[in-house]
Amino acid sequence: MVVIMKERASEPQIQAVIAQLMDMGYDVHRSTGANRIVLGAVGGGHGDPQIVEVQDGVQEVHRISVPYKLASRTFRPENTVIAIDDVRIGGDEVIVMAGPCSAESEEQVEASAAAVKRAGAKVLRGGAFKPRSSPYSFQGLGEPGLRMLRAAADRHGLKLITEVMEISQIELVAKYAHVLQVGARNMQNYSLLRELGKARAPVMIKRGISATIEEWLMSAEYVLAGGNTQVMLCERGIRTFETYTRNTFDISAIPVVQQLSHLPVIADPSHGTGRRDKVAPMARAAVAAGADGLIIEVHCDPDHAKSDGAQSMFPAQFERLMAELRIIAPAIGRSLCVEPVARRGWNR
Ligand code: PEP
Ligand code: MN
Repeated sequence: MVVIMKERASEPQIQAVIAQLMDMGYDVHRSTGANRIVLGAVGGGHGDPQIVEVQDGVQEVHRISVPYKLASRTFRPENTVIAIDDVRIGGDEVIVMAGPCSAESEEQVEASAAAVKRAGAKVLRGGAFKPRSSPYSFQGLGEPGLRMLRAAADRHGLKLITEVMEISQIELVAKYAHVLQVGARNMQNYSLLRELGKARAPVMIKRGISATIEEWLMSAEYVLAGGNTQVMLCERGIRTFETYTRNTFDISAIPVVQQLSHLPVIADPSHGTGRRDKVAPMARAAVAAGADGLIIEVHCDPDHAKSDGAQSMFPAQFERLMAELRIIAPAIGRSLCVEPVARRGWNR
């Protein structure tokens, strides 16, 4: 259940309600809404909500009928905004994360970081631990890759998002990354999600390859229930009967999740389509549909990329897309801010 305290509820009143909920067997998560304290009572407790409703300082009590509690809008009506210094994910500004699928070399990471920064991205993406369908494919550079990514991000004033595949990697990846990415294949790795609940860094959970929206929100619930409130979701396409595109990019998931949950929603049209020529139209559509951010693969020499070359944009294509997004975002009351950076010509 969700207990909304009165605007002027005193701290002793709040503590008394927390104690009562814990007595009923609930775990209590406290959050500050618009000027008032909201208490989320989750877990195996039971008790009559009316008993809670009559306590001093209580405004109203709601039952949450959906299985995800802390991720639901009932628990938190306001949007969650995740702030990484001056980069605010979930606010008015649409945040663009971009970079290669994988870190391959110092030069490649540096060139990608420079290119995406110039076009206006705020976050560098790139994997050092790669979940590949084949054990014979490039598996990522590991820690040296993390080091290259973070150094390039710092040089260009970007934040870094990178994937963590296993519990044993969390500490290492968190040393370098500003945002920890949970890949589609790990969306239901519940022990990993539980550990990420204890992490202090923001976490982005990609939608599982065949996951329903409810299953995806339940994965977010695992991290939230562990005490980490900085969770964002990423729509990256789902598997359907269609084979023309690598996945079917579920744009409707963006407004659906935003209605059901307060968590920011990022869209990944690169994995969503698997084809570079379809990334820009789907990125435009995702922003028009209200996505809080985009994550896009960009490579300076995609034909020789070690992973996902076919869906990686050339820097010039990405730059054009960013210019289009700057027109689309304000049409729906969002912004896409870019610091003025010196422009340079591109030959593709
Ligand atoms: C990636 O971001 O490169 C990636 C592997 O994504 P996903 O987990 O969505 O397949
Ligand atoms: Mn990829």
